Amino acid sequence: MNIAIIGSGLTGSLAALSLAKAGSRVDLYERLSDDELVNRDRTYAITHSSRKILQRVGIWSKLIDNLVPFEFLHVIDFELNKKFKFLVKDLRKETRKYSSIGWIAEHKKLMKTILESISETENINRIPTSIIPNTNNYDLIVAADGINSNTKKKLKTHSYSFNYDQVCITTKVLLRGVKSNEAFEILNSDGPLAVLPLGGDLYQIICSQSIRNGLYKMELPKSLFLDYLSTILPYGVEIDSMVDVPKSYPIKFLLNYSFHSGKYIYLGETCHAFHPVAGQGLNLCWRDVESLTNLISSPLFKQSKFLIPYLYSFSRLFDILLISIITDTLVRYSRTNINLFFLPRYFVFLVLKKSNIARKVILNILTYGLQI
Ligand SMILES: Cc1cc2nc3c(=O)[nH]c(=O)nc-3n(C[C@H](O)[C@H](O)[C@H](O)COP(=O)(O)OP(=O)(O)OC[C@H]3O[C@@H](n4cnc5c(N)ncnc54)[C@H](O)[C@@H]3O)c2cc1C
Repeated sequence: MNIAIIGSGLTGSLAALSLAKAGSRVDLYERLSDDELVNRDRTYAITHSSRKILQRVGIWSKLIDNLVPFEFLHVIDFELNKKFKFLVKDLRKETRKYSSIGWIAEHKKLMKTILESISETENINRIPTSIIPNTNNYDLIVAADGINSNTKKKLKTHSYSFNYDQVCITTKVLLRGVKSNEAFEILNSDGPLAVLPLGGDLYQIICSQSIRNGLYKMELPKSLFLDYLSTILPYGVEIDSMVDVPKSYPIKFLLNYSFHSGKYIYLGETCHAFHPVAGQGLNLCWRDVESLTNLISSPLFKQSKFLIPYLYSFSRLFDILLISIITDTLVRYSRTNINLFFLPRYFVFLVLKKSNIARKVILNILTYGLQI
């Protein structure tokens, strides 16, 4: 198959590798230089669904030394003062041998490794422009040009979207009182907060705040910002110092009404973008890649390529909808401070603390999604 991919972010680049390995000839269009693609200061939580894709395209072994595994994921409800933890044994049996619930990856290392593998793959042609000269040359066109996709605008594909009244603040800190194989998801009424291990005593803090509070916090002098962070960290965890300058970005919910248009297929943030709580963003983008690769590899559709966009949309529908509902519910759950809701919150925490089955169901959805 001849495929054009627009956008070489983490979704488009992995799609190029994956589709080329499945036998397609890929033209990968990108307007940014490799340096611009690599030099983004972002940290991702990688789940086992992503691990499987990276293994299949042959780059897992190149990446593993740069990933930080975590064996414990503590979930804390700050308002109720309740907590439980997900353990490796809550995962599916075949996954437990990896001894980790997931891995933390820094953007630079991830993007660099993927771009290097692309340059070693014969049937990927990188084209440094945003214009596709002749769309008739392609059997399929994959739009992976991000949340502000021009392709989508051109094709008049609409989305349901809104901005959360929140910004996401990220910063790297040195912590004491926490083990390097532990991650935390903390639900407090400011908004959800994640503490992710980066190796040794280094941790990434990703916290969401109302826009007003967030802007105020970003203006604080370093010492006061550190004081603030120490108030939202779990009991017993202490902050030593901050090793970078905090950054903030707005948080948007976006879900396309359609996942394809003619022979164009929308992948990654072109199609969906959700709140970073629960670390689902990149994993969901890469599950799009997995579904499309499975369809393109199937001998059933060699003669009926026109079906692929429809089947792709159907195959992704349930996973994307479920993750959108889970992430949005978590944000609302975290931010509500209406007393009436405290009883159901207490009940949810009690069930998750006491019931192995409930923990397994939730963790496996967050790990594998709902793939068809
Ligand atoms: C500021 C910011 C910080 C973030 N931090 C985190 C984080 O810490 N952790 C996390 O899990 N997620 C984070 N995210 C979300 C995460 O970056 C996305 O989930 C992920 O990048 C999605 O990748 P993508 O390839 O779908 O889109 P993008 O990364 O947006 O890639 C789209 C690519 O398409 C290219 N492009 C656009 N238009 C064209 C065109 N016309 N022609 C050719 N190329 C084009 C762009 O240059 C870009 O390279 C962050 C997002 C933002 C905006």
